[in-house]
Amino acid sequence: MIVIVGAGLAGLACARELTRAGRPFLLLEAAPGPGGRQRTTHRDGFTLDHGFQVVLSSYPAVSRLVNIHRLEPRWFESGALLHHDGLLHHLTSPLANPLNAVFSRSLTLSDKARLAALGLRLLATSDSTIAGGCSAPGDSTTADFLRRSGFSRGFIDRFARPFFGGVFLDNALETSSALFLLYLKRFLTGTAWLPSGGISALPKAIASEIPMECLRYNTRVASVETGGGSATGVLLANGAFLPASRVVLAVDEPSACALLERPAPPPGREVAVVYFKTRTSLYRHPCLVLPDAHEPVVRHFVQITNIAPSYAPLDWHLISATVLDPARYPSDALPVLAAREITGVFPRAEGALEHLETIRVPYAVPAQPPGFAARIPFPNLPANVYTAGDWACGASIQAALDSGLRAAHRLFK
Ligand SMILES: Cc1cc2nc3c(=O)[nH]c(=O)nc-3n(C[C@H](O)[C@H](O)[C@H](O)COP(=O)(O)OP(=O)(O)OC[C@H]3O[C@@H](n4cnc5c(N)ncnc54)[C@H](O)[C@@H]3O)c2cc1C
Repeated sequence: MIVIVGAGLAGLACARELTRAGRPFLLLEAAPGPGGRQRTTHRDGFTLDHGFQVVLSSYPAVSRLVNIHRLEPRWFESGALLHHDGLLHHLTSPLANPLNAVFSRSLTLSDKARLAALGLRLLATSDSTIAGGCSAPGDSTTADFLRRSGFSRGFIDRFARPFFGGVFLDNALETSSALFLLYLKRFLTGTAWLPSGGISALPKAIASEIPMECLRYNTRVASVETGGGSATGVLLANGAFLPASRVVLAVDEPSACALLERPAPPPGREVAVVYFKTRTSLYRHPCLVLPDAHEPVVRHFVQITNIAPSYAPLDWHLISATVLDPARYPSDALPVLAAREITGVFPRAEGALEHLETIRVPYAVPAQPPGFAARIPFPNLPANVYTAGDWACGASIQAALDSGLRAAHRLFK
C-alpha cells in the first residue's frame, strides 16, 4: 500500500494520478478537509479566502486535474490600477491590450520598451529553461536584476514591488530573479481567475475525484518509520501504525522536516488579509490596486466582488487588503491602518468600510532566495520515501500540483 501524507494540492494531485492509474493508496490528512493552505471561510454570505490567491490560466497542471468550467471561473483583467501622486493610472498587459499599454502614462516609455523586450525574450524561452535559473549559481535577487536591467526606480517602486512583492509576499524583492521571470511570463501569457465559490473550491474539486475510501481526514501522522519490511509505514498521532510499501510526504516543508527529523527550514513568509465590506463601490475595474508607497501597510488591495460578485451578498462589495509581515503591527491596529491607506487612494471609502475579519497566515510560502532550487532539503532519503510540495520548485498552485504529479510518476517506475 502507498501512503500519501497531506491533502494539500501536492498530495491531492498525487492521489488523483494514482486513482487514474488504478493504483491502491491511502491519503492521510491532519485537517478535517482537503486543501492545506488553500482555505476559504464562508461567513454571513461573504466568501473569505485565507490570503489573496489567484489561479493563472497559464498553469497547465490545473487543467490537467480539474474541469475548470465546473469551478465557474471569474476572470481578472490583465492589468492593475497604479496609484501615484494622487492619481490612478490604468496599466494593462501589453499582450492583452498593446495600444493601451503603449499610450498609458503609468510607466515611462523606456520602462515600457525594456518590459516589452524582456517579455519577447521570455516568450521565446521555454518555462523549463527559465525555471532552471532558480538553481543556477548566477541567480540574483529580483531587485538586483531589475536595477541591472536598467528599469527605473519608479517602475520598481510603483509596479514591480507592489505587484511581484505581493506575489512572492516579499516586500524587499529578495526573491530569485529566475522565479520572477517565470512569473512574469505566466502573467504575460495567462489570465488570473478565481473559482466563484472561493479558492478552496479548487482542492475540493480534485478531492471529489478521489474515492472516499482512500481518503482519511483528521488523521495526523506523527512519524515515518523506514525500518524495511513490515516495519515500514507511518505512526499516527493516535498511536496506530499503518504499514506502507512506500510513503509520499506531501506536506509543507516545516512539517516534512519535523517528520523526517531534519533541522527546521528557513522561516517562511507570513501574510495577513484584512477584509472589509462596503455598500459603496470604490472602483469598477476587475483588477488589483497598487498603492504608491515604499513601505505601505497594504501591499495591494482589490474590490474582489468586481471579479467574483458571488463573494458577497447582493448590494455589498468585498475588499481584500494584503498585508506583508503582519507581525510588525498589533492585530487590532491592522483594520484601522488598512482602512486609512485604502481611503488615501479612494476618498469615497471614508466611513464606508466595515471591518469584517482579519485572517493571518503564519506560514504562507517558503522564502525563495536566489538559487533556492539548488538546495536539497532532504538528501539521502530512504528509497521508499518520496516528497512533494510547493517548497521544492517555486511556491505556487502550479508548482504544488506539478510536484504531486511528478511524485506519482516516480511511483509508477
Ligand atoms: C496567502 C497565500 C497566498 C498565495 N497566493 C498564491 C497565488 O496567488 N497563486 C499561486 O499560484 N499560489 C499562491 N499561493 C501558494 C499556494 O497556495 C501553495 O503553494 C500551495 O497551496 C501549497 O500546496 P502544498 O500541497 O504544497 O502544501 P499545503 O497546502 O501546505 O498542504 C500540506 C498538507 O499537509 C497536511 N499535513 C501537514 N503535516 C501533516 C501530518 N503530520 N499529518 C497529516 N497531514 C499533515 C496539512 O494539513 C496540509 O493540508 C499562496 C499561498 C498562500 C498561503
